[in-house]
Amino acid sequence: MNVIDSQPYELLIGQRWTAGSQGHTFDTLNPATGQVLAQVHEASEADVDAAVRAAHEAYEKYWRKTTPAERGRLLRRLAALFERDREKIAWIETLNVGKPITHSLDSLKAMPSSLEYFAGIIPAVRGETIPVGDNDVLNFTLREPLGVCALITPWNYPMTLTVNKLGPALAAGNTVILKPSEVTPLSAMALARLFEEAGFPPGVVNVVNGQGATVGERLVTHSLVSRVSFTGGTVTGARIQASTASDVKRVTLELGGKSPLIVFADAPLDKAVAVAAGDIIKNSGQVCIACTRLLVQESVRDEFLGQLQQRLDTVRVGSPSDAATEMGPLVSAAQKKRVEKYIQLAGDEGATPAVHGNLLLDNATQPGFFVRPTLLLNSHNRMQSAQDEIFGPVQSVIGFRDEADALRIANDSRYGLAAVLFTHDGGRALRMARGLQSGSVAINTGVRTSFDAPFGGYKQSGIGKERGLEAIYENTQLKNVKYDMGV
Ligand code: NAD
Repeated sequence: MNVIDSQPYELLIGQRWTAGSQGHTFDTLNPATGQVLAQVHEASEADVDAAVRAAHEAYEKYWRKTTPAERGRLLRRLAALFERDREKIAWIETLNVGKPITHSLDSLKAMPSSLEYFAGIIPAVRGETIPVGDNDVLNFTLREPLGVCALITPWNYPMTLTVNKLGPALAAGNTVILKPSEVTPLSAMALARLFEEAGFPPGVVNVVNGQGATVGERLVTHSLVSRVSFTGGTVTGARIQASTASDVKRVTLELGGKSPLIVFADAPLDKAVAVAAGDIIKNSGQVCIACTRLLVQESVRDEFLGQLQQRLDTVRVGSPSDAATEMGPLVSAAQKKRVEKYIQLAGDEGATPAVHGNLLLDNATQPGFFVRPTLLLNSHNRMQSAQDEIFGPVQSVIGFRDEADALRIANDSRYGLAAVLFTHDGGRALRMARGLQSGSVAINTGVRTSFDAPFGGYKQSGIGKERGLEAIYENTQLKNVKYDMGV
């Protein structure tokens, strides 16, 4: 299937596909081969300004005046078009991100349902009447859109994160400017082409590509942008919070993580092993909620590790286009270098790196950015390798004595995105769920995010929630109105 354009991808500004005002392009790579996959036009500051103006005009002229039924109909049409093109978009993700094709197809399965879900909860964008002290006064609230929203995405799940931001933003009555990661912009371009076909008016969705420090910064600081929904690293998120503070903009930040997976001695070990292995294999460990600290009760540590290492030894690392591949490359040379640096650091800190899996590379994939699954045995939680987000197929293995010890170690992190625990003791599971400083907790299963449940981090993992009904609140503001009926 030929899914990549040979011409440079253009920006979408209002109703125009354009090369932008400066005509510059940048390369995007295939991480499995290290070769250039396509070229993409880079937005200038003037292009960003034009996109924001187009979104603002579309908001004022028509999008804010659409009825819930109209917005719902358009989102449902988009869902149907997405379903039609799902396989093509999955191949684009595989070629641009390096995800095995089986994983790309699987992770995009829920996207049409996500769009339909947000079409379906548009009726929740409503206020209420509130009895106040004076019976002559009718007091009610109006839930209103925010206006122009900037949606900024990272490279690890370009399409699912885009869809899960777009759906609620549009459902709530906002117009948007999407700024995909400069590392993996191609699937967003395939999605952008569907809006016109679905019947969305021009300017409701705009796409600008380019570097974060220039294009991203210009976008989030533009005075006509009222909300920024950002997913990416904690350092970038903090920067965006600072650069938007003087305008007191609404920001939602979905940031990094260093999630614990806690295995108690009474746990179903086979299930715990399957989830731990899945987290290191899936997307080569480049997953914000991946459990990268394995906390294992001392008495079952050897048994758990034996099973986990046996599973990891069988992992097939190779070409993402091959249906038999379980793990592809990392997204870029820079990410590979970063991960290898951390494995080296862990060794220097006293951990024992253990490398697993089989590299099945042919000549074409040989120069790609591959790293095999690596466990950092004999780690302790205060090591830098156990504190920093590495964002690759690497897990620190850390022992604990009892429940209190497990909770203390799990919470000893600047992050708080997700936590997983395995135990048959229901009381302990609930005590732990309460005590864990984490935006998501999963008991006896992995943290699988879904579009219909709220998701967001504690501590330096973020601010605000996306997905579920919470996403509608995040995309709207509430106005209180009083009417004196006695006048
Ligand atoms: P990143 O922070 O480098 O970049 C993310 C996006 O921000 C890119 O589009 C980039 O161009 C843009 N950007 C960079 N500087 C900017 C600025 N000053 N102003 C505006 N935009 C700017 O992140 P990344 O390396 O692409 O992604 C990996 C990170 O994303 C990891 O830390 C991971 O944990 C995190 N992540 C979090 C979640 C979540 O839901 N919490 C999900 C996926 C990934």
